[in-house]
Amino acid sequence: MSTTISTWVWMKDMLTWSTNINHHLNKTSILEFVGPGDHLYRNYHLGLNGRPCNADGIFLLPGTPPPPLENVATDNWTPFRNHTEFETAEFLYMQNQMPAGQINRLLDLWASTLVKHNDKPPFADHRDLHDIIDSSPFGDVNWQNFTVTYDGERPEDGTKPWMDDKYEVWFRDPHKVVRNMLANPTYTSEIDYCTYREYSTEGDKRQWKDFMSGDWAWDQADEIAKDPSMLGSTFVPVILGSDKTTVSVRTGNNEDYLLYASIGNIHNNVRRAHRDGVAVIGFLAMLKTTKEHAAEAVFQKFRQQLFHSSLSKILNTLKPGMTTPKVTRFGDGHYRRVIYGLGPYIADYEEQALLACIMRGWCPKCMASCEDLNKDVLRRCREYTEALIQEGSLGDLWDDFGIVGELVAFTNDFPQADIHQMISPDILHQLVKGAFKDHLIKWVEKYLRHMHMK
Ligand SMILES: [Zn+2]
Repeated sequence: MSTTISTWVWMKDMLTWSTNINHHLNKTSILEFVGPGDHLYRNYHLGLNGRPCNADGIFLLPGTPPPPLENVATDNWTPFRNHTEFETAEFLYMQNQMPAGQINRLLDLWASTLVKHNDKPPFADHRDLHDIIDSSPFGDVNWQNFTVTYDGERPEDGTKPWMDDKYEVWFRDPHKVVRNMLANPTYTSEIDYCTYREYSTEGDKRQWKDFMSGDWAWDQADEIAKDPSMLGSTFVPVILGSDKTTVSVRTGNNEDYLLYASIGNIHNNVRRAHRDGVAVIGFLAMLKTTKEHAAEAVFQKFRQQLFHSSLSKILNTLKPGMTTPKVTRFGDGHYRRVIYGLGPYIADYEEQALLACIMRGWCPKCMASCEDLNKDVLRRCREYTEALIQEGSLGDLWDDFGIVGELVAFTNDFPQADIHQMISPDILHQLVKGAFKDHLIKWVEKYLRHMHMK
């Protein structure tokens, strides 16, 4: 995976710009010391504080233990026939990671001792073991697909082949994927149910670590908490990322993009350790711009809108939970009232321009002209872009602001989602390759030549 879903840089970016760091205790937070030696303390958000509730969404009194995990605690080991089968599979496949040949040998030995008792080992051979693991319903969300076709105007001099093509998009229900992440019992000590601000006791210096310690999450919680029916809920920001895939089995005029999702609540180490903290939720078709289509405005527009419309359709199942809390079981056994939001979207510059509906060469985050990107200007935001689109002609929007006015960003279909705020750099492409290799190294080389000659 070349898109590193790390939220750290994005958080820093958001924090640098933040102007309202409310210090210390205030009316909307609660203070708690964390870690050894009382060196750090946190203010937790009081409005969206991740209170446990029962399966009907009624909040529990503090200290109430979670209900027992009924399905797991009893004898349902589906698709395994019993506890022993599950434990054996877990031991061989997860802990021991035993090669197929050795699994077969072990199971043969096992079978030879059991045959006297007319009994059989849990699995016939390694293939049987893998088949049963593959059929496990837990944690797996089925792939579905839909097809997109062009339904715009057709030129009089004959339709183009791309206008008749069918574009297939494969996806997994992101709501189910996210619910599985929240229900993962191995994250219980590495998940934040509530946004917080952390300070050091020496000099009251702000500390940043995981996603929920950042200002964006806090500000979103503030915004959501304005509605009294949201109080006590758990804010779950969905982090997105996409990247063009190089392993494409398709040929012809399509490019494929993988869409990834994670949640802001789990700690960075969980996301980095690939413990199902990041999941592929989509496989998007994207038209390749060939020489013959490069100058065709209608082709470009369809190509870009295809991307946005596909994203909007894929993410659709998250939408109801953005305005009405969804009672969801967490890995610690507790139910909580979850309210979803679209968090950062991590992508390289090419995709950032596409996502932000701007011309290439312009900044997706601020209003600086492409001719003077260093200028101190206001940030872009959804309301301002919409106001400009209301007022200006498409040509003016294009020339003066770098805005592709005909495009509708996928975020417009979701409450409170602002693509300009969400855009965050992909560390590999933008920082390592872009800022460091392409820019800094070249600059240093130029400087050295200038000062010390070849
Ligand atoms: Zn900018």
